[in-house]
Amino acid sequence: MAVTLDTDLSRVLGAKTAKAMAESLDLRTVRDLLRHYPRRYARRGEMTRLDDLQVGDRVTVLAQVRRVTSRKMRNRPGTLTEVTVGDGAGEMQLVFFNRRFGTLEEGAWGLFAGTVGEYRRSKQFAHPDFHLITGDDDEDWARALIPIYPASKDVSSWVIQKSIRLLLDASGGFGFVEDPLPEDLRRRHGLPSLPAALLDVHRPTTADDVEHAQERLKWDEALILQLVLAARRRAAALEPGTARPRRPGGLLDAVDAALPFALTDGQRAVGEELAAELSRDQPMHRLLQGEVGSGKTVVALRAMAQVVDAGGQAALLAPTEVLAAQHARSIAALLGPLARAGELDGDPAGTKVVLLTGSLKAAARREARAAVADGSAGIVVGTHALLQQGVDFADLGLVVVDEQHRFGVEQRDALRAKGDRPPHVLVMTATPIPRTVAMTVYGDLETSVLRQLPSGRGGVASSVVPVSDKPAWLDRAWERLREEVAAGRQAYVVCPRIGDDDTGTADTDAPEGADGAPDDTGGGKDDRRPPLAVLDVAEALHEGPLAGLRLAVLHGRMTPEAKEATMRAFAAREVDVLVATTVVEVGVDVPNATVMVVMDADRFGVSQLHQLRGRVARGKHQGLCLLVTEVRGSTSTGQRLASVAATSDGFELARLDLETRREGDVLGAAQSGRRSNLRLLSLLEDEELIAAARAEATDLLAGDRGLADHPGLAAEVAALATDERAEYLEKA
Ligand code: ADP
Ligand code: MG
Repeated sequence: MAVTLDTDLSRVLGAKTAKAMAESLDLRTVRDLLRHYPRRYARRGEMTRLDDLQVGDRVTVLAQVRRVTSRKMRNRPGTLTEVTVGDGAGEMQLVFFNRRFGTLEEGAWGLFAGTVGEYRRSKQFAHPDFHLITGDDDEDWARALIPIYPASKDVSSWVIQKSIRLLLDASGGFGFVEDPLPEDLRRRHGLPSLPAALLDVHRPTTADDVEHAQERLKWDEALILQLVLAARRRAAALEPGTARPRRPGGLLDAVDAALPFALTDGQRAVGEELAAELSRDQPMHRLLQGEVGSGKTVVALRAMAQVVDAGGQAALLAPTEVLAAQHARSIAALLGPLARAGELDGDPAGTKVVLLTGSLKAAARREARAAVADGSAGIVVGTHALLQQGVDFADLGLVVVDEQHRFGVEQRDALRAKGDRPPHVLVMTATPIPRTVAMTVYGDLETSVLRQLPSGRGGVASSVVPVSDKPAWLDRAWERLREEVAAGRQAYVVCPRIGDDDTGTADTDAPEGADGAPDDTGGGKDDRRPPLAVLDVAEALHEGPLAGLRLAVLHGRMTPEAKEATMRAFAAREVDVLVATTVVEVGVDVPNATVMVVMDADRFGVSQLHQLRGRVARGKHQGLCLLVTEVRGSTSTGQRLASVAATSDGFELARLDLETRREGDVLGAAQSGRRSNLRLLSLLEDEELIAAARAEATDLLAGDRGLADHPGLAAEVAALATDERAEYLEKA
């Protein structure tokens, strides 16, 4: 039979196996099976580190039978067989009911697969599947490296292994597999052919084989992803847009004249870059990455002003109502009469700044939408409400997305689609992201970076307050806060939860796709007490350590009016201490606030803490951020907090964040669909490879013929692009 990559597995394997593979592992074709790579390789005599297994893990281990004991069960008929297996350091119990074991003899080696359970404090597998390795019929045993595949209850690792061998036998090797990578590219990077790499990854002889093969297979993933992105960049570059050149004497000049500070060199440089791109009739697609507090808003505002001067409208999309309201307020304040064209005290040469959020009352919403539709609102600031149907722009020239890590590509595209012609797009993200993420998740955008903070900033000192190790430090923390307030400053106290009857940890106004609790804390699971709540903490502080100070609370369950009023009062220094959830996480800008106390800091993710801390680094005074936790310093979570306290380099923290979260989350949250393509490629470790693949992809598409000379690559790219489209449609 002629096997191809598209051959259905049922034609190569038994019907039952093929069905189980399709149902439990989504493996349907020969291609699927060949691209189902081993997770790791077991080796005889190697310590498989049984001790590290967690209860609930589904695993396959290579181990040797040490002891077999059977006894009659006391409470019911039948026998219980306990088999102790081990490898190097650890031992583990296998428990079987009513089964006879001629085969499981002491000294035998086998693969054992099951879910790890616990019984009387030792780990055990109940009724595991197992596959003994006899050494006679099993040539893999001689190979010494046994592939361990991601498996399921119905399809074990060794069934997959056997299936691959069947496939090899049926096809007479992997010769039928065509290699999509151009040969000269392979030669340049010293990569084996695809058939050779597949053979080595599934049936390796040495660890070197595996490494070499994996390198090659990672290239497939990286190159195809980068080709999709490069194609998207090229397509975007060919779209017809509208040039919005600079016009002297307009809003932009007025903004520059009104700014109470000089722009930093970085702001100026990025500003020039944006001004030039806006002047072209191809739509700009740019990512502005900037450290928290680096002053991205002003850069965006200047771009918006240029577009308004050229007769277009600019929309600013913010992730929360608090942030949208703050942007609208500060833009209006900066523009003064220029923001009130059409009003009595307005300057007719100016424009209107309109806020559009979900909580507007019907009449206000109608009015806002009308101003958007007739073009009198040059600057439109809003939340998701901007994306809704019925919001029509007269002439949308620029879309700015603030805090892009809170939005998916879908939202960006939805707003873009509101222009007659594709508008210019500026995406801003405050969490500095590792270069690899910039190259993948945001790979269809050109990137600008603001590294420099405005001068004259006091900076933030951070420390961990470990209440288990040093209970007295918490009192000292409140004292410090009181000292700052006495000196005329203000403070935030942040808690993970609102309180009263909210059960979950999330605040409803917390942006979607928030980092959430990191994996290793278990986010309020089982034996831990519930996370501290704003309402409880505010009351305790009011009656205790902060008695006499003016406290206010802020959280997502308050009405938008109440939130707005509280933020205004805080900005006007009528409130000393704001006790809040993460609604203050992104963008909130009150330069007089200098202290932040984060309660249960261990319940927040790394980049979330960095964002929070950014709230108290905004003025000329030195900021102080105290991370209060019950977690001990010696635990991994304690160490993570220590790292956050030790560095304020967002790029370094972004890396730490990537390490503590699973990559799928990073990709998944920011962009759907990509994950399916990335099996071996690691955003953490493969920076060089990704950069090289990006360069190759750009080169491959640089000529007029596109991928015409590389039909294999073109097909893979088309398949990935379609997958993404399909997922996008499903989500819509
Ligand atoms: P982010 O990049 O985190 O969004 P913002 O745009 O909110 O930062 O700016 C942080 C603060 O710095 C604001 O109060 C802003 O007015 C101020 N700021 C921006 N640019 C400068 C500058 N060049 N000099 C001094 N202060 C600045
Ligand atoms: Mg901001």
